[in-house]
Amino acid sequence: MYYITLDLEWNQAYAQKALAVQKQLSLRLRGEVIQIGAVKLSEDLKICGSYSIIVKPKHFKKIHRHVSELTGISQEQMDEGVTLPEAAESFRRFCGKDFVFLTWGPDDIPMLKDNFRIHGLETAWLDATYDLQPIFNRQTDGQMAKQRSLEYAMEYYEIPMNLPAHDALNDAYFTALVASHLNIKEGIRTYHDGETQYLVEFVIGDADSGEDGYVTTGELLEDPLIQSPTCPLCKKALTEKNKMLHSRGQRYTKLFSCKSDGDLFLTLKLHRNFNDTWRAKVTIKHAEPEDIKEYEGKLAIEASFKRNPRSRRSSKKRHRTRSGGDKA
Ligand SMILES: [Zn+2]
Repeated sequence: MYYITLDLEWNQAYAQKALAVQKQLSLRLRGEVIQIGAVKLSEDLKICGSYSIIVKPKHFKKIHRHVSELTGISQEQMDEGVTLPEAAESFRRFCGKDFVFLTWGPDDIPMLKDNFRIHGLETAWLDATYDLQPIFNRQTDGQMAKQRSLEYAMEYYEIPMNLPAHDALNDAYFTALVASHLNIKEGIRTYHDGETQYLVEFVIGDADSGEDGYVTTGELLEDPLIQSPTCPLCKKALTEKNKMLHSRGQRYTKLFSCKSDGDLFLTLKLHRNFNDTWRAKVTIKHAEPEDIKEYEGKLAIEASFKRNPRSRRSSKKRHRTRSGGDKA
């Protein structure tokens, strides 16, 4: 099996153009790939090939000044690039059959997939991919939450930066040099360790993938999928055990129980779609006793605020509604 380090450069549109394209495509397009750079490594992490191609964007045809300054790619170079379908075909040939992608950071593969979808290109062959950032963190100081730059990792291994950065091929090459210092097999084997194990995870109301978004958060919260969910394990209806807890950052948590599978947390994280409607990432996981305690504690605090609205200084609106109700 080969390892392929991948890096992309992408063009961004000026705000007005971006909005127009989003409307036309009915999806959010964060950028259009203008360079694919990749380096192939053998199983023992020796460099055995490289790939670079300039791609001509389909929608964001004018190179953004910042992108040009950062990457050194000019409007003329971009105009002379190949189309994405052509690039995809030649890149796939370079990758071969037996490989996994290694990237620095989580952004490149989703960006490439978004771009492929716009052109109706197959994306499944991009699925086998590992982000080296957490592998690096785990194998160095164990600080899993940190997002270290590629420059940081290069300094860590004393790799000289002897080529300009923000060139997709150079960055893929630097990524390959960092990878050669890591135990990649071990990194892949333990890649998902320590992650929260969700029983299910899905998105509702995702306008980017063609669904209808929810006009209000209330409408979303009243969806039967949220109101009366089924157990992801035994598929039977779950019983509500407590109220919905609303936390900062449009997060919602509610405790349910299943006769055969015990207590389960349903959590929601709401996001705005490009057209201002709402979508939510829904997850269901086993509820651990300490998390139930924390959740019930927060609900109790919320309930005490509702009983004594005066004690919540920021809640003036609620106070007014309440006293209005008293008079009536
Ligand atoms: Zn169940």
